[in-house]
Amino acid sequence: MFLDFRCSQISYSFNSFSKIRNTILQLFGTRDPNLLQTHTATSTLLKDVLATKALFSRVESNNDLQPILDWRWTADNIFTVASAYKIMSWSGIVSSYHKQLWKMKAPPKVIFFFWLLLRDKLLTQQNLAKRGWPSISACKMCQLQAEETANHLFVSCTFAKEILTRVSSHFDFTPAAAAMDVQSVWLSTGLNLTVQQRALWTSLWAATCWLIWKNRCSSIFSGRQLPIARIVFDIVSTTMYWQSLLA
Ligand SMILES: [Zn+2]
Repeated sequence: MFLDFRCSQISYSFNSFSKIRNTILQLFGTRDPNLLQTHTATSTLLKDVLATKALFSRVESNNDLQPILDWRWTADNIFTVASAYKIMSWSGIVSSYHKQLWKMKAPPKVIFFFWLLLRDKLLTQQNLAKRGWPSISACKMCQLQAEETANHLFVSCTFAKEILTRVSSHFDFTPAAAAMDVQSVWLSTGLNLTVQQRALWTSLWAATCWLIWKNRCSSIFSGRQLPIARIVFDIVSTTMYWQSLLA
């Protein structure tokens, strides 16, 4: 099988994006920058494809269809064959990811921001420190004294969690509970949605990250931080505005 052929040649021991990218380049023989970009950004998906392949082997050999815990591709974290098939649809999910990102209903500057975020290229305190720039290190949006990484600021921060809970419930979305990074929240939550719902969810998640980032910058640089209720209102109204304007 086409997918099996490629999966079987990629070792689980690869844990850096560059190694995975190089392996994909060798296997697929492509120098297409768009494909390269997509594959690099979706290396997490690659790992899930490999994990899914192993999972299918386990299911086939043991005839065991018990729910599997920690499956992060469904809203309730319960393994389903349907969700696994979607992960196994390698070319489908890659092209879908690419298309959703660049065609989302949002201004170009927000799409670019979201693209940088997915590549972990935003100048968070962690990334500033990596470059040797002065940084305050701890997140300014919560009391956890956690290092300000992108995944903390937008996913695991109590401030971000509260905002995501409120904006999601406004549109009746259920964020994937086990997702621990920006890309996983986006793709896992969108997995079981219709195409139309997924487009709305993509805009909403980009608007959420965008306005969290704006408030974070305002808090750091001018000491001003809006109440959560106001930020939620701004995210919801901004998302609806983008949907109407770019329909
Ligand atoms: Zn925080």
